[in-house]
Amino acid sequence: MLRIAVDQAQCVGHGRCYALAPDVFGPDDFGHCEILIDEVAPGSMMEAQARLGAQNCPEQAIVISD
Ligand code: SF4
Repeated sequence: MLRIAVDQAQCVGHGRCYALAPDVFGPDDFGHCEILIDEVAPGSMMEAQARLGAQNCPEQAIVISD
């Protein structure tokens, strides 16, 4: 499984991650990113969503690791 994490110190709440990948990321009460699913299967649609969100985060706050 691949692990999804967000560095809250980097996240400023643009919201691009949860706009593009709402099954993996959501907003917390302040509009910052909240991880909805912290593990995804390699090659899955959820991995594709997680990577889409990560690639579109202007702060590079989202980390995907195995
Ligand atoms: S796109 Fe990046 S900075 Fe914006 S809410 Fe998502 S993780 Fe935070």
